[in-house]
Amino acid sequence: MKYDGTIVKMESTSTNPVTYHLPVGDDYIPISNYIGKYISLEFRGDIFCIGCGRKTSKSFAQGYCYPCMLSSPETSECILRPELCQAHRGVARDMSWARNHCLTEHVVYLSITSGLKVGVTRASQIPTRWIDQGARSAIRLAETPNRYEAGLIEVALKQSVSDRTIWQRMLKDQYPADIDLKAEKRRLISLLPPKQKSFASKDDEITDIEYPVEEYPKKVKGTTFDRENEIFGVLWGIRGQYLMFDDCRVLNIRRHNGYYLRIEL
Ligand SMILES: [Zn+2]
Repeated sequence: MKYDGTIVKMESTSTNPVTYHLPVGDDYIPISNYIGKYISLEFRGDIFCIGCGRKTSKSFAQGYCYPCMLSSPETSECILRPELCQAHRGVARDMSWARNHCLTEHVVYLSITSGLKVGVTRASQIPTRWIDQGARSAIRLAETPNRYEAGLIEVALKQSVSDRTIWQRMLKDQYPADIDLKAEKRRLISLLPPKQKSFASKDDEITDIEYPVEEYPKKVKGTTFDRENEIFGVLWGIRGQYLMFDDCRVLNIRRHNGYYLRIEL
């Protein structure tokens, strides 16, 4: 089968293991069905902004043209740094967008990716956010009424726990096996000042996530369509937003939002 079209990030379904679909133009490829099979993805040279649809020679902030990067609510500074969100004070690039994306329930969570990490997401993005980052398991730490408060908790915790994933380790499935998420949650909450403690989540459920991976590589080599026009091979697995190939190459699909590809399966 041949598919031509712009791609956007894979959609996941939290089955066990996770099921992935790759949107390509108007098609919707059940990409996790192709694990163990030969696939090829060829970049045809065009990139279309996922905000306005215009052709752009370069992609900014994972899929936007330069003007959209500067003006879209999706690329606001608070998306990467929630503590800078000002929507609760009535200040945002687009207040109606902010009402649905910043002034709604947010969750501060702990997840195990390449190690223990803290993160922030909209409550409605769970478990999608955890799957997108390739987490092994995750737990809610706090629930807040908006993005800003969640960001302040994350900042307070960053002194005690990382907020980053080392993707090379995550894709080799290397992580410390002895992390007790419930114990870490209790320990980190105890470090918070009283106001932030009041947001602590009573939900102690641990979500474990399995990915469709036939075999984890011993080493990984990141590649992009800015470097190579064609990426092909036997698909070994999918984790987070990465396709993993038999020659240790890994491709971050989300990084290529808006790239026009030909995909052969
Ligand atoms: Zn645009």
